[in-house]
Amino acid sequence: MGNIVAIVGRPNVGKSTLFNRLTESRHAIVDEEAGVTRDRLYGKAMWNGKEFSIIDTGGYAFNSDDFFEDEIKKQVVIAVEEADLIVFVVDVTSGITDYDEAVAELLRRSRKKVVLAVNKVDNASRDADAPIFYSLGIPDLFTISGINGSGTGDLLDFITENLPKTGLTEEEDTLNLPRFTVVGRPNAGKSSLVNALVGEDRNIVTPIEGTTRDSIYTRYNKFGHDFFLVDTAGMRKRTKVKEDLEFYSVMRSIRAIENADVCLLMIDATRGMESQDLKIFHLIERNNKGVVILVNKWDLVEKTTNSTRDFEKVIRERIAPWTDVPILFISALTKQRIFKALETAQEVFDNKQRKITTSRLNEMLLPIVDATPPPATKGKYIKIKYITQLPTSTPSFAFFCNLPQYVKDPYKRFLENKIREMFNFTGVPVNIFMRKK
Ligand code: GDP
Ligand code: GDP
Repeated sequence: MGNIVAIVGRPNVGKSTLFNRLTESRHAIVDEEAGVTRDRLYGKAMWNGKEFSIIDTGGYAFNSDDFFEDEIKKQVVIAVEEADLIVFVVDVTSGITDYDEAVAELLRRSRKKVVLAVNKVDNASRDADAPIFYSLGIPDLFTISGINGSGTGDLLDFITENLPKTGLTEEEDTLNLPRFTVVGRPNAGKSSLVNALVGEDRNIVTPIEGTTRDSIYTRYNKFGHDFFLVDTAGMRKRTKVKEDLEFYSVMRSIRAIENADVCLLMIDATRGMESQDLKIFHLIERNNKGVVILVNKWDLVEKTTNSTRDFEKVIRERIAPWTDVPILFISALTKQRIFKALETAQEVFDNKQRKITTSRLNEMLLPIVDATPPPATKGKYIKIKYITQLPTSTPSFAFFCNLPQYVKDPYKRFLENKIREMFNFTGVPVNIFMRKK
């Protein structure tokens, strides 16, 4: 299952540049000035056939000058707790700073694997300045250049070889049970829901704690349900670090999302769907996981005839264009509709597993693509010949055609909507690929 690698270090050492290189994305805004807010902090890397997530902690740097360094140190503490492996970046051109020393000490005390990346070693002449960084006490040292990429292959080799095994044991895995997780920002009511479900009747739950993994899988086997509830370690033993740090909530969410099939995204009805909720929603989507939105604390909302409908409408507008998502109004406190929430999560899980045969797909979709083909581009007509579902863990469909490169996103969205109309994929991302035939 998903491993998480966190990049830490003080501003301007090159974290963001390295993040881009490792995720091969060019979207992050690299700025000469320290402390500029960026919003590309989370990406996926693939190396030697292993996929893992990368988080650039620098993206969450606080802009206030007062506690600037303190806040970054807090983030290091959180990253150490939530990540599987830490890449500590330093800058060869500036030597060792007090801040580097402080971070190194935090990292040395942790039991997580730490790699020291001495960055900005753009040429051989700078190699000579790298060995002094051994004095930070982190033995696994790599000299790299985030800008030209040198050394990053060795770094990636080391990372992929040292990622711990996470997720279920083989035995648990063969049970093939759905894995659900409850996510949401602090105070949305996550713990209340988990407690309402598994809290009282300890007989029905079997907490299985692994030694190498940070997630706890609780088997819930009652009322016709049988699934694992994935709980992150951080959810139980709360850190002393300030709970409402956005970074903390994001790190926790990522870990929980990575290890689940379906996410129950809790929203506080008294606050509505705010940007932090939306961020978590997009993390779920980008990870190709199923989702059920639970509007919690519904007991606190004064109801009028249209309150549910109006509330739902606002949420769907915010999550557009992916709106084919179940939305339930619950109360973890009064237990209103919490079992409905489980049923819905199970349905979403079934949708995620759904496989449509090639013959059925072609029978139903070919008439539609014939009637409404992709718009001709540069005078060329695009002909879709057949459609097949790919053997992936998330519903993905390949449309074979003569000129796949000319098919634009709006048409792919049209195809996705047609597929959603014909088959039940509610709560599940659907991927559309155009392939050459
Ligand atoms: P962050 O604040 O740690 O995320 O650092 P950035 O990635 O934003 O980089 C800070 C500055 O260092 C930018 O001007 C980058 O272009 C520069 N930089 C990053 N990596 C390298 C490198 O490998 N070599 C050199 N010469 N400059 C780099
Ligand atoms: P978490 O941080 O997401 O785990 O949220 P908690 O479960 O700790 O809940 C935060 C606060 O909201 C607590 O004071 C709960 O008692 C309260 N709360 C949670 N769910 C509900 C609900 O459905 N109705 C009401 N009225 N309060 C709730």
